[in-house]
Amino acid sequence: MTQTAHHFAATPASGCRAGCGGCCIAPSISSPIPGMPNGKPAGVRCVQLDDENLCKLFGTPQRPAVCGNFDFDIELCGNSSEEALRLIGEWERLT
Ligand code: SF4
Ligand code: SF4
Repeated sequence: MTQTAHHFAATPASGCRAGCGGCCIAPSISSPIPGMPNGKPAGVRCVQLDDENLCKLFGTPQRPAVCGNFDFDIELCGNSSEEALRLIGEWERLT
């Protein structure tokens, strides 16, 4: 399977940048992730994020359901991985 985007089997219209990985680093995730049984704190890189910032579990049943809930949102994703880290980090502190 070709991995075209990190979140969702993103349609081109979704805007998700393949290799961004911002939403796999910036937010906290409370559900268990393979290799991170207690989930992950905000700002910590998910162990399932590979060197190209793609999810190693994409398309597999092991990928936590919550990961599919983060949809591309220009307000949170910004225009780059750096912006996503900053914007999602701010959102995380406010929620
Ligand atoms: S932060 Fe946004 S653009 Fe980056 S991987 Fe997540 S959904 Fe895609
Ligand atoms: S399991 Fe995959 S989609 Fe979920 S946070 Fe980790 S790398 Fe991202």
